[in-house]
Amino acid sequence: MNNSPLPVQQASFQKKVDNKPTDLYYLKNEREMIAAITNYGARLVSLIVPDKNEKPTDVVIGFNSIDEYLKSTDPYYGATIGRFANRIAKAKFFLEGKTYSLDTNIAPNHLHGGLKGFHNVVWNAEQLDEKNLLLTYLSIDGEEGYPGNLNVEIVYSLTDDNELKIYFKAGTDKTTVVNLTNHAYFNLNGQGSGSIENHELEINADYFTPMDEASIPFGVLEPVAGTPFDFCHPLAIGARINDEDLQLQNGKGYDHNFVLNKKTDERVGFAARASGDKTGIVMEVYTQEPGMQLYTGNFMTGKNKIKGGGTDNYRTAFCLETQHFPDSPNRPSFPSAILEPEYLFKTETIFRFSVKG
Ligand code: BGC
Repeated sequence: MNNSPLPVQQASFQKKVDNKPTDLYYLKNEREMIAAITNYGARLVSLIVPDKNEKPTDVVIGFNSIDEYLKSTDPYYGATIGRFANRIAKAKFFLEGKTYSLDTNIAPNHLHGGLKGFHNVVWNAEQLDEKNLLLTYLSIDGEEGYPGNLNVEIVYSLTDDNELKIYFKAGTDKTTVVNLTNHAYFNLNGQGSGSIENHELEINADYFTPMDEASIPFGVLEPVAGTPFDFCHPLAIGARINDEDLQLQNGKGYDHNFVLNKKTDERVGFAARASGDKTGIVMEVYTQEPGMQLYTGNFMTGKNKIKGGGTDNYRTAFCLETQHFPDSPNRPSFPSAILEPEYLFKTETIFRFSVKG
């Protein structure tokens, strides 16, 4: 049974936001892994995994209280992102004969579902058992400019194989667009332990989607071979991050969508493997999604105080956001993100932890 200390205190999450109660929920497995999740933004606050010396290590950047999340200069830490993760160019898309206008929260474009999105709302939560938490949210027709009442369900689960599984499901009553992801910021040496540039990373992608200086993809796939985007074999994140490369300049580092190599018979396929150089903690990512955003904390400012007393300094975390490609509502050549009322959107992403060395 799990005897690790609890990472964050529940009391500092028991507040009200928009008149709805917020709380903190813990998941535990039989192998010393603990996840702490708040229903404010359906957010992963903390994820404790054992390192190579079995020391419990919190690998997710987060805050100690709801108040800190409310005042953070970056609203996405650990959050569920929707209705559409990543960018929509000019904050507009055309669907079934109509143009929909969204919030220009990264002017002139739309980012991560808008100002409130799914990350700044209070979800309903039901702890199913010690290892499973169900979160639900009804995004009403017209919210943030999107069509259709969208019923969203997320289940966070811990398994005894040291996996954190996130299962997303959504249904609509009008044709709409959906792209859901989790925006956890990871540092596998432990949150607050410095730069992630010495982490090793491998990404199962032969192509990525190059983009302009506002991070809007051109709509083409470009081979990673011969570029700093080739992570087909494990390499330090920082090995080429400061290379003179137009794509790296446009992202201020890595902030790009990778086109995952998919086998058609795979339900959940291998996407990436990262490891912390100090702790030996290895995280593998498996997903049903066609793409994954690698973001290397290029816009982290050090302005926010994180759990443990440190600050969220430049490039001290990375995100692997499994997703549909950015701007896919305006890019017919990309896998479709359209959801029609007679279908359900269902997708699963798994973060599996182990140690090496
Ligand atoms: C985006 C970055 C953005 C970050 C904010 C990432 O998903 O691609 O451009 O700054 O989220 O946390």
